[in-house]
This record gives sequence, C-alpha cells and structure tokens, in this order.
Amino acid sequence: MITLDDIRARDAADPLAQFRDRFDLPEGVNYLDGNSLGPLPKSTLPRMHSVLSEEWGRDLITSWNRHDWIGFPRRLGAKISQLIGAKPEEVLAVDTASINIFKLLSAAIQLNPGRRTILSESGNFPTDVYMIEGLASVTGGQVEQKLVEPEEIEAALNEDVAVLLLPHTHYKSGRVHDMQRITEKAQAVGALVIWDLCHTVGALPVDLNASHADFAVGCGYKYLNGGPGAPAFLFCAERHQDKVFPVLSGWLGHSKPFDFVDEFQPAPGIQRFQCSSPSILGLAALECGVDITIEAGMEALREKSITLCELFITLVESRTTGFTLASPRDATVRGSQISFAHEHGYPIMQALISRGVIGDFRAPNLLRFGFTPLYVRYEDVWNAVDVLVDIMATQAWDTPEFHARAAVT
Ligand SMILES: *Cc1c(COP(=O)(O)O)cnc(C)c1O
Repeated sequence: MITLDDIRARDAADPLAQFRDRFDLPEGVNYLDGNSLGPLPKSTLPRMHSVLSEEWGRDLITSWNRHDWIGFPRRLGAKISQLIGAKPEEVLAVDTASINIFKLLSAAIQLNPGRRTILSESGNFPTDVYMIEGLASVTGGQVEQKLVEPEEIEAALNEDVAVLLLPHTHYKSGRVHDMQRITEKAQAVGALVIWDLCHTVGALPVDLNASHADFAVGCGYKYLNGGPGAPAFLFCAERHQDKVFPVLSGWLGHSKPFDFVDEFQPAPGIQRFQCSSPSILGLAALECGVDITIEAGMEALREKSITLCELFITLVESRTTGFTLASPRDATVRGSQISFAHEHGYPIMQALISRGVIGDFRAPNLLRFGFTPLYVRYEDVWNAVDVLVDIMATQAWDTPEFHARAAVT
C-alpha cells in the first residue's frame, strides 16, 4: 500500500521539484493537461513586456537587426534541436505543425518522384491526414493517401511509398513508435519518413539523427509551454535541405530577400523553409518555455514522467473500477500521458474539472491525463485519484450539467 507519507517523501527527494515554482499555476488547480496547453512560465510575462515595450515599442523596425528578429526562427530552432537529437542548423521554429507537415510532405514527394503513395496510420491526429488529403488534391491525383492500422505499417511499406507520416507519440493513447526501426524499414524500400513529435518534444528524449530521420515537425504550445497558438518547428536532415524547392516559397525563404528580385532563389539550408515574417511575439514566449525544458534536461524529465505515470496507473487501478487502461502498460513505449477508457468518460472528466483536476476527454470514451514533470508533483497524482474516487463513489458526475458537451473537449 502506498501512503500519503511515501508520496510526500518522493516529492521531497524530487530533483526537479524547484521547477514547479517557475510556473504561474492558479491556486486550487491540479493541472494534468500540459499535453494540450502548457501553463504560463513566470519568465514569460517580463520577457513579453520587454519585447513589446523595448523591442517593438522603442526600437521599432531597427529590432530586425538590433535584436536579431530576423534570425529568431533559426536561433530558437537551434535551441529546440538539443531536445530532439538534431543539429542546430537542421531545425526552424516557424508556422504551425499543420503548415510544416504540408511543407515537408511536399518536400518528400519532390525527393521521391514517380512514387504515388503517402502512407500514414488510421487514428492518427486528424490534421496530419487532412494535410495529406490537401496535398493529394493539388497534385491532381499524382499522389494519394493510404491509411493502414498502426500494426500494419511495416507490412505496407513498398516501392510505391514516397513518404511515411507517423506520430511518434500517439495523442490519445500515448503509444510510442520505434523511430529507429521504422525509419530503417522505410528507408530500406526508398521511402522517406516524417515524424510528428507534437506529443514527444519536451515529454521524452528522442534522437532524430541517431535514427537517421529525414524530417520531423513538433508543437510549441504543448510540453514546451510556449503559449496558445505558439509557433511550431520543423526538422529537415542536412542531407536533404539543399535538394528541396520549398513549396511555400515565400520571400523570407529567398537567398537574398532584400534584393527584391522577380525570381525565387531558395536560401541555402533550413532557411528556405521560412516563408513569411516570423511571429516575434510568439517566438519570444516559446523561447521562455524551451529554456526551462533545456535547463531541466530531457533525461531527468523522462525519469520523473515515468514514475508519475506508474503511480497514477497503480492508484487508479487499485482504488477504482470500470476504468480500462488505454495506454501501453510498458513505460518504454509510452509517452508522458495516461488515458483510461470509461463509458461515462465525458461527464466524469467534466466533474473532475469542476473540482480543479484538469485533464481532457478524447472521443469516444477516453479520459486523458498529461503528467508533465516540470510542475506536477507526486502529491498532485495522489490528490487527483482521491477526487476521482470520490466522484465515482458519490456519482457526482451524473448530472445534466456534466453531460452537456462544450465546443472544445
Ligand atoms: C497538437 C498536434 C498538432 C497541432 O497542429 P497545429 O497545426 O499546430 O494546430 C498536429 N499534430 C499532432 C499529432 C498534434 O498532437
């Protein structure tokens, strides 16, 4: 039996404990949804204040040079590269994950002419497969989407596959694909791979170059705590960069944007994937989140993430009934989130939220909880399960108010 004293001892010995104070967490909130929207770092407010009042307000347009706004997407990309096993010049912090997926899908089909298939898995995060549909439509049927079950990916790899697009960590279950193995299998038949790291970056260590990855994208507003709608990032292996004509060939991807010439000449390297003026405010906020993650270190974060998740599974399974684990039991193939299926998942989650335990619901029946080791304590896991046990015992979830569906779940 685990006791509250054991839990408190774990918190007292936690080497990451000091990081909780870096965040502005509201009183009375047990935040288990950092996998959807990370909370506000305390450093972000003063940083935004200075970007607004000094860089924008006072220095105005000179800031493009004076504060190197123009180099910000590459500078921040270089920081993010440390979290994902990339070289600094292989990552650009820019646009959104969806847009970056489109850019990289287009790059991959250019590098693999004559192949028709863009392969992905069913049950993937919707935007990923929707972007494939969009790209297929502009090629007038030259390429088409093929979706197979996650276990059938390797069998579906053949010489017609131009590119494989897969989530590294699945958004619902937290299941992690074997990046090295799948990349190797795909490349063996000449396919390229795009890894979606949205639920991986900042949650678990990953080594793109050790896996000989081709391309990747990731998200800034989840585990990196970059704020709502934060810029995303893209990774393009150095060996591919100069072979790609960027499909969104905007002026800032030009080799000499300030020559203002008629013809597009791609910039060397990763810069060609920049299309528009970077979102300076968004990048400044994202940098605050990235800096904290780098300081904490991915290995320490991963270690604590696993113990938080294990504790949650143990407590839920020993203290409740009716909840079925929908995440892998084996921590080595699981990200930093735990999902449980329950037939009344939606109202139960609303009841939890009303009591300050914030997770989320994913259709059709999943309660999803993100365990973000930067600020979640072992005691928070304990308290969340206490509230869950109470809601189930009292049937507090079964009210009309908690059954009503909101627009965002
Ligand atoms: C969150 C998420 C996205 C987000 O896409 P945006 O275009 O940045 O909104 C994309 N893919 C996956 C797998 C995600 O989890």
